[in-house]
Amino acid sequence: MTVDRGRCMGSGICAALAGSFFTLEGDRSRPVSGETAPDETVLDAADSCPAGAITVTEDGRVVGPRD
Ligand code: SF4
Repeated sequence: MTVDRGRCMGSGICAALAGSFFTLEGDRSRPVSGETAPDETVLDAADSCPAGAITVTEDGRVVGPRD
């Protein structure tokens, strides 16, 4: 999972929804860990990001945000 810090607007929604996966650093989010399995919590956060800044991949395929 990646966070595009250029797109992130620091809303903090991802950290509120999935605090073990995202943390705010300054006024932008970053993943807590580089390698994160695309579980439901992470996918929900990606779906909820108002900036579309979170991309979740699995085996090189983009699986989130979902449509
Ligand atoms: S939800 Fe999106 S815009 Fe908000 S802090 Fe997380 S990555 Fe940034």
